[in-house]
Amino acid sequence: MENRKEKIDFQSSNFDFRRLKLTPPNSEKRVLLHSCCAPCSCDVMATMVESGIDLTIFFHNPNIHPREEYEIRKEENIRFAQKSAIPIIDADYDRENWFARVKGLELEPERGKRCTMCFDMRFERTALYAHEHGFKVFTSSLGITRWKNMDQVNECGMRAASRYSGMVYWTYNWRKMGGSQRMYELSKQEEFYQQEYCGCVYSLRDTNAWRFKNGKGKIVRGERFYAENPVNVDFSAEKI
Ligand code: SF4
Repeated sequence: MENRKEKIDFQSSNFDFRRLKLTPPNSEKRVLLHSCCAPCSCDVMATMVESGIDLTIFFHNPNIHPREEYEIRKEENIRFAQKSAIPIIDADYDRENWFARVKGLELEPERGKRCTMCFDMRFERTALYAHEHGFKVFTSSLGITRWKNMDQVNECGMRAASRYSGMVYWTYNWRKMGGSQRMYELSKQEEFYQQEYCGCVYSLRDTNAWRFKNGKGKIVRGERFYAENPVNVDFSAEKI
């Protein structure tokens, strides 16, 4: 663990990186973290490592479309986990099942029923892996971004956990205590890829429609990075 701490020392001169020491539910030492991407999970990972939690990353995101975008996000997450000496499980790109489950929900807005299905599917697989590998607690980076409804994410996580006796979905609010800001600062520092849509083909469609309406060009994948772009976000509500 000491070794990990050295490698994941992300101190910055322009931001206070103090983190709370966290204790997982039931004082469990091991946690399985479902990660949607490196930017969303970087501060969650660092906070857990600094808290002495024995962390494993689970990358299962068959929602991401097209495959080229999936590979960019996945490889970046693997690279960052390896740099931080945190084990990462590269789970299936089970897009056939994802598309089967999304039938009838294609026109749902973000945060609607389609997203509930999408979280359910990813968390069911995460909970299964946790159950089969002796984890009693799992959580996700999905709730850290303000684009997501945290209650919706938490409800899906708890529903997946309820499939297994003794399993807990950790509903910790990763945005608070500066989590959101540290996420952006680390993403800039690590020069992460800056994805411009949530992930599925429908979010790509809807984001492009919004961009056209607002006089912006179509999304060009694989070309935007946090280090190159200022982040104009008010973090004041997420300091505490
Ligand atoms: S918008 Fe995002 S969370 Fe919702 S279904 Fe698409 S990929 Fe999943």
